[in-house]
Amino acid sequence: MSSESNPDFRSVSAPAFGVYVHIPYCLQICTYCDFVKFEVGDLPPMGRYVDLLREEIRSRAESLNPTPLSSLYLGGGTPSLMRPEDMVAVRDELARAGFPLSANAEVTLEVNPGTLGPVDDADSPQSRVQAWLDCGVTRFSVGAQTFNAELLKVTGRKHSVADTHRDLELLSRMGLNFNFDLLFALPGQSLRELEEDLRQALAYGPRHLSAYCLTVPEKHPLNRGRAGDEEQADMFEMIEERLQSAGIFRYELSNFAVPGFESRHNLLYWSDQPYWGLGMGAHSYRPRTAGQDDFWGLRFWNPATLKAYEHELREARGASFWQSMSADRVEALKPHEALTDYLHTHLRVQRGLDIERVAEKFGRAAAQDAIRRLAPCVEGGLLRTRTNSQGVSFGVNYHFTPRGHALANRVLERLTYLQDEWPSLS
Ligand code: SF4
Repeated sequence: MSSESNPDFRSVSAPAFGVYVHIPYCLQICTYCDFVKFEVGDLPPMGRYVDLLREEIRSRAESLNPTPLSSLYLGGGTPSLMRPEDMVAVRDELARAGFPLSANAEVTLEVNPGTLGPVDDADSPQSRVQAWLDCGVTRFSVGAQTFNAELLKVTGRKHSVADTHRDLELLSRMGLNFNFDLLFALPGQSLRELEEDLRQALAYGPRHLSAYCLTVPEKHPLNRGRAGDEEQADMFEMIEERLQSAGIFRYELSNFAVPGFESRHNLLYWSDQPYWGLGMGAHSYRPRTAGQDDFWGLRFWNPATLKAYEHELREARGASFWQSMSADRVEALKPHEALTDYLHTHLRVQRGLDIERVAEKFGRAAAQDAIRRLAPCVEGGLLRTRTNSQGVSFGVNYHFTPRGHALANRVLERLTYLQDEWPSLS
């Protein structure tokens, strides 16, 4: 990355700034997973990895604009394999570097069933949960996936259905805010089986539910016997109906929440806000500052292997943030890429895509072109429009219909711009 570009965060004044911490330790490797992850025994002890995270904070924080965090998200991998004191060490290092948690910060811990504490000690999981709460966790995200023991086995998960019930029962009994991760369209899964998963999940009173349609390459063994596109669309519609009648509403393509319990951290990803990713393979984003940047937003990410991550941190000692980043892991967005990202992410959220904002950020020609591309989706019943502001030329907002949510890829494909399509839009 050339130093002239000076693409740091310091010029960005954003209403929200979040940190993501990647914990790549897993008890098993699930057959469908494409995250950066390793089996526990293939990585050094967690304490050593936490030291590296702290080193990353110390060496790079200076290039960023110290600001209280609106969110801290511990994802993985399996962050619940950490000790609460490991999380405190990361949190305190961030605070020392100028990134304390703001007074009402959202702090999420991803949990795999069965990792909250030893199962043979009835008191232990509760005290472990309390320890997480004491270090500031406000929200748990449980990677339950399904209550069907056979399907769980097919995905390669090590936890049992009994583990899931035990952990959900505990979080529910303690009155805590938790997300339930639901995986659907599993091999051979019927609509009725999915309905049963939802029924059981709702019995624990989650305030948030993420519903992910299994995505694997065409020739992957998990693709055998799966629901086709139309059946998947029916599944998605059924999920929305059931959740809605339980007071849990869709606010993003795959995410549903009791109003007020939307994931503030994940909303950063869909609203062009900056975030800093720490740890192996973690991604960061910094939006464009109009008038100052010659690029349209910046993405950069860490190496995905321990060896390369450690090497980069060693190199970072005494160097600036950008000198220490390898150029092949920094992407200065071109206008057609930024436009594509903006349209995709804003359409994903329930409040929809505001065309007036598109015109402000990318120009009138880009806004007009987006309207032209979206027209067949409106006619085809995949999108609805709403007038935002009378008298404003682009005062229209697009959002998905229930059918459109289920077939969103068809819409998003139409909004994917190629490089040679940009000049006519500028
Ligand atoms: S536990 Fe999660 S991160 Fe680990 S392999 Fe399974 S799906 Fe991937």
